[in-house]
Amino acid sequence: MNTTASCRFCGGPLAEFVDLGMSPLCESYIAKGQLNSMEPFYPLAAYVCRDCVLVQLQEHVAPENIFSEYAYFSAYSDTWLDHARRYVETMTERLGLGSTSRVIELGSNDGYLLQYFVERGVPVLGIDPAANVAGAAEQRGVPTLVKFFGVETARELAEGGIRADLVLGNNVLAQVANLNSFVEGIGLILKPNGVCTIEFPHLLETIAGNQFDQIYHEHFSYFTALTAEKIFMAHGMRIFHVEELWTHGGSLRIYACHAGDATHSTEASVSRLMHREREAGLHRLETYADFAERVLATKRKLLSFLIEAKNCGKSLAGYGAPGKGNTLLNYCGIRTDFLDYTVDRNPYKQGKYLPGTHIPIFPPEKIAETRPDYVLILPWNLKDEIMAQLAYIRSWGARFVVPIPEVSVI
Ligand SMILES: [Zn+2]
Repeated sequence: MNTTASCRFCGGPLAEFVDLGMSPLCESYIAKGQLNSMEPFYPLAAYVCRDCVLVQLQEHVAPENIFSEYAYFSAYSDTWLDHARRYVETMTERLGLGSTSRVIELGSNDGYLLQYFVERGVPVLGIDPAANVAGAAEQRGVPTLVKFFGVETARELAEGGIRADLVLGNNVLAQVANLNSFVEGIGLILKPNGVCTIEFPHLLETIAGNQFDQIYHEHFSYFTALTAEKIFMAHGMRIFHVEELWTHGGSLRIYACHAGDATHSTEASVSRLMHREREAGLHRLETYADFAERVLATKRKLLSFLIEAKNCGKSLAGYGAPGKGNTLLNYCGIRTDFLDYTVDRNPYKQGKYLPGTHIPIFPPEKIAETRPDYVLILPWNLKDEIMAQLAYIRSWGARFVVPIPEVSVI
């Protein structure tokens, strides 16, 4: 696919990274009454900047159309809640946060994380453009501003005297169309010695693990520590620490402060990780060229398995209805011809259908009722949690199928 667009960070020219064809918005679950209506599909192709090697999508869909009502409620995953609770404990201690501090979360979703700061008496403010999830946050006692974050919102807050000791953003940086405005805004609301932590799926892991299903329209950018540093530096901030996390198939948490803030010296973790990224060749354009071929091979292996299973008369159900599952199913062309249905714990998704593939979504109990031979785990990053919850499928001899990094039957 050709593009004339330029890099959303530096304005440089783009080269193709991987083309996943046409796909619907992966969080646009279909209600029964919409099944016979037209459904918009958009190109799902990722590019890499020839100048700064930031991997990115073009903006085919305005963020207002994606994020004003969002089906992803964070509070439905136990593993995710544990992750949030531990983060709050660590940061409260590390930064000595208390009743005179302030924490601002960008993309605060349903308040699943900030609720733990509220429990500890630390004042918080959530910012999220989706009114429906913000409503759920308010019910948890998390004050939430329903807005897109950028320079404009940051100025309003700073002028109103609202600045933060801790600004955090989990899996939100990827979803920002105007990257420069967002990162500049962080600098504006960060107190002089404040700390910002940002989590995002690590492109190093995405590439190494064939995780092409991390790519979807809602994720405009895909980062390494190397590219993140360039972006924060360009806006007067410095990354002083990085942590590698298991979330989303391998994520990074970067810690940033104002560039001139001497209270946070740069730790060895930063140069160690950047060294590894350079060793993996992530600073060079050529490294990005062979990913597309590996993605095609992953697709063929998964389809071979499914065709073989169906030829043997086996039945398959899915587990989960995550955004990444929709990229996988649409790209591979897997519909109810292979997968009878999927299940999800989120009541918002139950009774609806997956975008594009129109696979129905049921509550998890459906699996025990229908006893499929295989359960395909779509949020494969949570496979241990899911296999433990669904251990009962072994009682009728069923097995789990994990699609990424390549199909495996467990
Ligand atoms: Zn660039």
